[in-house]
Amino acid sequence: MNGANCVFCKIASGDIPSQKVWESPDYLAFRDLNPQAPSHMLLIPKRHLASLAEAGEADAPMLGGLQVAAATVAREQGLDSFRLVTNSGADAGQSVLHLHYHLLAGRRMAWPPG
Ligand code: AMP
Repeated sequence: MNGANCVFCKIASGDIPSQKVWESPDYLAFRDLNPQAPSHMLLIPKRHLASLAEAGEADAPMLGGLQVAAATVAREQGLDSFRLVTNSGADAGQSVLHLHYHLLAGRRMAWPPG
């Protein structure tokens, strides 16, 4: 799937509404439609990349920025304990083919994840 048919690209462009939490020129954080914790947000780069598995050297600055964005959102939301996770590939549970981190907080997390 390319960016044209991608639901998260459409959220990034505003064509599909979302509950926006934070935004910068390159990244967006919004609430997950189906939250798995009291606080469950998704962090995406606005530029389309299908998954972490597709990342290359040229994506390193974007990936670093995405993690800093996660830290910024967590701080702004007052979350001093959180889990940041990305599912890459069907067996890992990836259902939307646009790179995203889940930022989960507000309950005790189990380990290992299921
Ligand atoms: P994953 O299964 O890791 O690919 O995560 C995709 C996440 O996107 C799931 O947790 C869905 O609940 C969430 N999701 C799908 N569509 C939307 C949407 N339009 N707005 C907010 N969250 C969404």
